[in-house]
Amino acid sequence: MTQHTFSFSFQILDFEELMPHDKNLIEEARKATKRAYAPYSQYQVGAALLLENGTIVTGNNQENAAYPSGLCAERTAFFWAKSQFPDLKILTAAVSAKPSGEENFVGVTPCGGCRQVMLEYEIAQNQAIRLVLEGENGKVKLIEKVSYLLPLCFSNKNL
Ligand SMILES: [Zn+2]
Repeated sequence: MTQHTFSFSFQILDFEELMPHDKNLIEEARKATKRAYAPYSQYQVGAALLLENGTIVTGNNQENAAYPSGLCAERTAFFWAKSQFPDLKILTAAVSAKPSGEENFVGVTPCGGCRQVMLEYEIAQNQAIRLVLEGENGKVKLIEKVSYLLPLCFSNKNL
């Protein structure tokens, strides 16, 4: 038997401690929450991606009466970005969330399905995608790569 341990470090910062480009990106994600279509969950999520040419792509959750037909904010943004700019690397992804009808943002982390999708592009572009995630009480979580969130992942290497 061999014992294995997985751990990673991440940062929790005050908004004002963020680098300007991260500050801008989380602000774009916050704006995107307000355009979400979330009549069922009443939980509005926004994502903003910084591409290597400086373009910012945003997305938000798009729900549906047939629940599984809806899509999370992260995947909406990632699929839109890669469908429009297939050759551009994604440098950073910011995600924010808030309950519908409220102004305060709440902590959020990507669901398992979105982690899998983000990891696919991180592997394909052979460069880490940084995550800037809305934290609690106005703080922000910085995670240096998607793969930290999906240990023992399934990828094209398994096929
Ligand atoms: Zn998701």
